[in-house]
Amino acid sequence: MSRAAIVELLHAGVSNHGIAREVGCDHGDVAGIRAELGLPDARTIKGSASPEDLFWRRTQPADGGHLLWAGHRNSTGVPAIRTGGRMHTAGRIAFRIRWDRDPIGRVRAGCDANGCVHPDHVEDQPMRDQYAAIFRAVSA
Ligand SMILES: [Zn+2]
Repeated sequence: MSRAAIVELLHAGVSNHGIAREVGCDHGDVAGIRAELGLPDARTIKGSASPEDLFWRRTQPADGGHLLWAGHRNSTGVPAIRTGGRMHTAGRIAFRIRWDRDPIGRVRAGCDANGCVHPDHVEDQPMRDQYAAIFRAVSA
C-alpha cells in the first residue's frame, strides 16, 4: 500500500472506504492515517459518487451565468444521472442543491436559457405558482 497515495486521496476528500477500495488496503489503516493527519471524516457515499458530485462533473458553464448539461439524457431527452440503481433528473438534483428539499412537480429552468440546469435557475411547481400569484397581484 502506498501511504502517499492515501494521504493524497484523504486531502481530496475521499471516504475511508473509497480510499481502501482505490488503493487496495484496509479501511482501518486509512482511518489511522486520517486520525494522524487530524482530518475530519469524509461524508460516506455508499457504492458510488453522490448525485450532486456527478451533477457538477456533467455540467458546463455557459454565457450569462447559465449551466448546461453535458451528460446523459434519458429516452425522453431529459438530462439524467443513474447512480445507486436510481435515475435522477439533473433538474431535480440541481433543485435539491439549491433548496435542500425535494422539488414538487416538474422542475424547469426559470431563466431564458433553453435547457439550463443551474441550481439557482431551476424552479418547481409551487415556486412557479407563487411567482404567477405575485405577477397577477402587481399587474392587477
Ligand atoms: Zn439559466
